[in-house]
Amino acid sequence: MRVEILGCSGGIGGNALRTTSLLVDHDILIDAGTGVNDLPLPALAAIDHVFITHAHLDHITCLPFMLDSVGDMRNTPLTMHATQATQDIIRKHIFNWQIWPDFSEIPSPENPFLRFNTIEVGKSLVIDERSITALPANHTVPAVGYQLQDLRSNASLVFSGDTTSCDPLWEMVNAIADLRYLIIEAAFPDSERELAILSKHFCPSLLLEELVKLKSAPDIFVTHAKPGLFGQIERELRQGVGDRNIRMLTAESVFEF
Ligand SMILES: [Zn+2]
Ligand SMILES: [Zn+2]
Repeated sequence: MRVEILGCSGGIGGNALRTTSLLVDHDILIDAGTGVNDLPLPALAAIDHVFITHAHLDHITCLPFMLDSVGDMRNTPLTMHATQATQDIIRKHIFNWQIWPDFSEIPSPENPFLRFNTIEVGKSLVIDERSITALPANHTVPAVGYQLQDLRSNASLVFSGDTTSCDPLWEMVNAIADLRYLIIEAAFPDSERELAILSKHFCPSLLLEELVKLKSAPDIFVTHAKPGLFGQIERELRQGVGDRNIRMLTAESVFEF
């Protein structure tokens, strides 16, 4: 399994800053933030599945454009996987014929560009020897994270999506025997700890308190830093981290496992 980070910032601005999206091999996206914008048309057309963590705009913004750009280049619908709650929000507020057409009825309801698949926390979907499992998250809107497991190499990557403190997440993560990588968020610096709590994100001090609940020792990467505050968040993590190996995630990073 190859996981390429297309975007891992809390915002946009310049070359390095693109919002959340992970490309799994050539055919699966986890979230569809502005990082997707870098993919050339043939690469966009090759994507069969988009797994959504939650409906916030920084995680879905390229999905409507993708469908419009490559729908007629594909023979089969692109499948958007999300929980029922997230699917309902996206259908009501995005694919509603007002913000954007409902591509699950275009060009026809029988053979559309987009179809929806409902996922549930704790249930796995296997696509060509790759298992994708939704994990609990705790955010201001319904949200999940994902475990990406390669069934050939028996190795897993966990992506938290947007979350704050979430005990059910650790119950599931601590049960993953082959966890190699953990990508988890810290959207704000410690000076905005109250805002992090209100908006259900982490700041470095909250995150380090939370990581005490992690019982295994994967390589940890931190995502979703607010633009302009990447360096500050990185410094605060480094100061608080002790001997744990935690790095900031950067766009174009690749995980192969
Ligand atoms: Zn969010
Ligand atoms: Zn976000």
